[in-house]
This record gives sequence, C-alpha cells and structure tokens, in this order.
Amino acid sequence: MLYKIGSVEVWRILEIHAPFKHPNDLYPTAGPDVSELIEAKAPGSICPHSGNLILPVQGFLLKTSSHNILVDSCVGNNKTVPNTPNWHQRSDNRFEAALRAAGVGFDDIDYVLCTHLHTDHVGWNTQLIDGRWVPTFPKARYLMPSADEQYHSQQNTDLYKESVSPVIEAGQAELVQAGHKLGDHVSLIPTPGHTPGHVSIKIDSAGKQAVITGDAIHSTAQCWYPDWHFAYDADAIMAIKSRKHLLETVSEADCVVLGNHFSLPSIGRISVEGSAFRWDENQ
Ligand SMILES: [Zn+2]
Repeated sequence: MLYKIGSVEVWRILEIHAPFKHPNDLYPTAGPDVSELIEAKAPGSICPHSGNLILPVQGFLLKTSSHNILVDSCVGNNKTVPNTPNWHQRSDNRFEAALRAAGVGFDDIDYVLCTHLHTDHVGWNTQLIDGRWVPTFPKARYLMPSADEQYHSQQNTDLYKESVSPVIEAGQAELVQAGHKLGDHVSLIPTPGHTPGHVSIKIDSAGKQAVITGDAIHSTAQCWYPDWHFAYDADAIMAIKSRKHLLETVSEADCVVLGNHFSLPSIGRISVEGSAFRWDENQ
C-alpha cells in the first residue's frame, strides 16, 4: 500500500517508468534552461543519458470499505499510439501485476474513474480479445468526463474507437461532470484546460484529505513554475488557471497530493513559497 487516507487505502498501479520526451519540447515556454530548473526542483527526474523527462505512467487504486475504485487506467496493450513508440502496440503485464499485488483482479474493480480521456489514462479501459475491444473490467461502471467524450466522439479518434466507445456500447459508461460524487469519500473537482473536461480526484475520509491531480500538473517542478505551458494542454491558458487554483486549494488545506506523472514516489504536500508553491515529498 502506498498510503492510507482515513479508511481509504491508496495503491500505486504503475505501468511504465521510463524517459518520455525532452523538457524543451514538453514545456515550450519554460526557456532554454528548463532541464536544469526541473532537475534542481525534482532531482533525478531527467534521464542522464537521453536528457528526457522520466515520466511514470500510473493509476491509483482506491480501496474503500465498499468499493475498489481505479483512478486512470494507463496506456494498455495493443493500442494505436504511433506518435509515442513506447506506448504503441504494447504487450506487457505490469499493470495487471500491480493490481494483483494490491489483491484485486480485473473482476474486482467496481469503478473506473478517468481524470481525462488521453492515451495514458484510458488504455486499460479495454482489452483486445479475439480481435474485438471489450471492457477490461466486466463488473465496473466507468466514469468519464462528458466534455472529453464529446470531443473524441466528434473526431472519432483511435482512442475513442479503442478505449471509449466499446465501454459505452457495453452499457458500462457514465458521462459525468466535475462536482460528481462517488460514494462517501470520492469526488471530482474541476481542473479543465489540459482537456476540456479534465477533473482531479478528491478523497475525504475521517477528517483526512488527498487529491489526485491527474494531468493538471505534470511535474512537481510546476509547483515553483505554474505558468509553464505543457505541450499537450488543449487550452494552455485555462490549464494555468486550473493549476494555480488547485495549488492554492491543496496548499490551504492539510492535504496529501498524488500526481500521476510526478517522480516516484509521486506523493507529498504542497505549500506556498513566495509568489508560487513548493513540493515536499512524503518521507
Ligand atoms: Zn498523462
């Protein structure tokens, strides 16, 4: 187990931990010394060989007294992602092994929560069986931001055909909006910008709080530099607004923060520092 928030267990479901792309490409407005700035604030997160940002791809399993809730389902196997070779047509069992290590199988997941509909957050929504995409979690309800679903259905993207529409066709999808609550302990908070319907996840139990950022923040260095654009933000200005609001919210509360793409262990706390924020890893 990674952490316990009141009565809710949080387990890391890690699929990939590898160099991704160069910080100059990922943070195009951050200036030429972005790699040095990231390495100074998040030591060890730049690959010394390639110079690329090391990016964990992970979901989080929440075990409450009544439900197993998977927040984000990583990249998945056999998916079409030609622009990111390491994510394209994968065949790997690390995701399933991480679930097993947490004591659950595919049949035991009650809910899948997607913070947003991007390749590295929806992949294991489905798996390819006998040439057909079918929901990986046969008993789960899948909660997806409706604004993201609308975008992908209009564009009819590979992601939609492979990882979203098979879930809808199986009758297992619920299109939701920020503010939605799931049981007594979990709610969706609005952080639009990275995608139109992006949400972060709030966990509340026995007076303790945690937030899973999703992709509202990609690197803990962005606590110090929240104005950096991220290359894959659909609306970078709105993403900055959401990021700053989230940073303010979690710094004001006594709140644990988990970031899907933060350097491992990806868990810590955020506080105000000068005109920005700082990150302190959980020890
Ligand atoms: Zn992501």
